[in-house]
This record gives sequence, structure tokens and C-alpha cells, in this order.
Amino acid sequence: MHVFQKATNQRTRAINEQLVLRTIYGRAPISRAEVARVTGLTRTTVSDVVDQLLGSGLVEELGLGRSTGGKAPMLLQVPDDARHLIGIDVGDSQLSGAVVNLRGEVCERLELPLDGRNGEQALSRLEALLDGLIATVERPLLGIGIGTPGLIDTSAGIVRWAVNLDWRELPLAERLQQRHQLPVHIANDSHAAALAEFTFGGHGQMRSMLVVKVGRGIGAGVVLNGALYQGDGFGAGEIGHSSVADNHRPCRCGSTGCLETIASTRAVVQRARELAPHAPESLLHAVASPDGITFEDLVAAFAGGDQLATEIVTDAAHHLGRSIGALVGAFNVQHIILVGEMTVFGEPWLAAIRREAHRSALALLADETSIELGRLESNLVVLGAAALLMTRELGVSLGGAG
Ligand SMILES: [Zn+2]
Repeated sequence: MHVFQKATNQRTRAINEQLVLRTIYGRAPISRAEVARVTGLTRTTVSDVVDQLLGSGLVEELGLGRSTGGKAPMLLQVPDDARHLIGIDVGDSQLSGAVVNLRGEVCERLELPLDGRNGEQALSRLEALLDGLIATVERPLLGIGIGTPGLIDTSAGIVRWAVNLDWRELPLAERLQQRHQLPVHIANDSHAAALAEFTFGGHGQMRSMLVVKVGRGIGAGVVLNGALYQGDGFGAGEIGHSSVADNHRPCRCGSTGCLETIASTRAVVQRARELAPHAPESLLHAVASPDGITFEDLVAAFAGGDQLATEIVTDAAHHLGRSIGALVGAFNVQHIILVGEMTVFGEPWLAAIRREAHRSALALLADETSIELGRLESNLVVLGAAALLMTRELGVSLGGAG
């Protein structure tokens, strides 16, 4: 056989395998005949591929289903624990990691504080966390997925720039791959959060969604027609550094007036510290010293109906809503999900965002768009990193049915 032909056949085989696996994962319990019907592949091809998958343990036979006239069909499924995955969230102050199965169920968790480490020191901390997690794994391990802040080239596995960690042009995936002898995939943390909601958030048949992560930083992840859209330079959804406020506040990116300077957790705390001394009636005024006001203080004051806290949070939501309105116009994606620490402000915050997004987008588009809080409360980036790994290694993912 010609070399080129051989390569093409191998490629076709891999594509068919992913297609069949994805279908069984999304629709189990399902028979071979039904897989053939759904995928449009021949029964012979499906049988061959299923044999392969049975051999590797990625698929198992469940038993006979109900007959519709002829012989009762054997039903198939992907065992939840056929492979385990490691997902890592490189946070601002700590590294969190987990071993999860193919349904995103957490089997083991580990955390390591960063204690201000960056550069090479943060990297060895990450390696230590991975060593700890790998030691607990009792199933075949698919690999490692990592979500980290910054501009991340997912295809090449390179951290192009992560400000806080002081990582520049770091070939993170290759380095970890060599050390641990496992496949490694990396993505921006907001992009990972989007994959987590899309894959494990129980959003059913949704094919596209925007997930906006609002915490110390602000970024969006874009899923279009079932695939993560990262942009030509992997910066899709970097709304946190769009200049939207005329507050002239310097941002850590070097610019001023970025969305992050008004709508992030850092920004609202900063604002509370500035305004509390001038608001004697505010609960925040009662905090021992203005510079000691924490995010938790602000959350408590807000929950207690404090006027100053309400103003600060509403103003943050207002600016975020305007940026989201721009996204509605740019993508016309009808499902927008909000995640991250700021969601603790709940319905009133959400209502202000909806109001402003609606006001600033084309009415018809806005009417057809829902803005909701995310469903996965914790482990968001960890789960997203695992979903990234699963998508890229097995082609299995995304949103319920394949
Ligand atoms: Zn900025």
C-alpha cells in the first residue's frame, strides 16, 4: 500500500473511532446498530471499531436490550472509570488539582499554596502537586490537563504570557510531558471554565455558549458549535482588558480603565476601601481600618442591604453588563453563563448585568439571549482542564449527545 494511502486510512480509522466513542459516551446504553444509524457509518465499520474499543477498555457490553422483532441487541456504554484524568487549576494564590473520571466525578483532590512563588519556583510547585496526584491514581491515566491564567497557545502547549506567574514563552506542556511521560494539554483558565460548564454542567443540547469568569481577573470562554473557539492568537474572550471605564485607574496589564479595574473582586474591594471612610452610615465604615476591608466584608455588607456596598456592586455589574452586551452583538450566542467569585452577589448582581446587557445590545438579539449563573460551583477550572484533555485525547465531549 502506498505510504500516503496508509496514512489516510489510519486517519480515517482514528476519526471513526472518535465518532463512535463520542456517540456511545453521549447516548449510552446504545446498540451497535443504533450507533451505525446515528453516525452514518456501516455496521461492519462500527463493529470493527467497537471491537477495538472493547479491547482497550473504553467501551463495555452492558447486556441485552429489548428486541424490536429480531434478535435482542447487545447494549454498550463507556465505563465512567475507564480512564482517570488529572485536572489542574493554576490560581493566583494556590494550585488546585484533582483526579477525575470520564464523567467529571472527583476521586482525589490536592492543593498547594503558591505563597507568592512565580517563575521556576511556581513550576516546581506544580510538578510536586502532579507527583502527589499521580501517586493516588489506580486506573489507567489518560493524561494531564491544565488551566492557567494568561495567554495560552493550546495547540503548541506554550504559555505565551502569564503576568502574575512571570511565565513567558514557557513550553509548559512539553516540559511536563517529558517529566511525567503522559499527554499534557493546557488552556487559559476562562477557556477551561467554559469547557467545564459545557461538558459537565448539564446544559443538555446546547451547542454554543459564552462563559464569563468574573473573579480577580475577568475573561470569557467561547464555545461555538460544540468546539472551544480560542481565536487566532488564543486571546478570544479577553474582555477583562477592554477599556470600558473612564476611571483612569491603572490596570495590571499596563493600560487604564480596563473592565477589570471596575468589575473584578479586586476592583470592588479597592473601591470599598476608598469610599468607606466617607460613608459613616455604612457597615463598611465600621470595619477597623479602611485598608483592612476584605472581599468577605463587602459580601457581608451587601447581604445586609448596605447602601454603599450595593452601589459598588451594582456599578461593577453595570460595566460588566455593557461588555456582555457587546459580546451578544459580536457572537449572537444565546446562552451566557456567569461563573467565578463575583457570582456570590447572586440575583441582584445578575439582574443589573441583564439590565445593562439588554440595554446595550440590539433588542431582538438581547431578547433571545439568556444570562444565567453557572451550575458547577467548585472545581470549575480543574474540571475544565480535564474536559480539555478528554476532548483532545479521546474526541469525547461535549454537551450531552454526540
Ligand atoms: Zn488591563
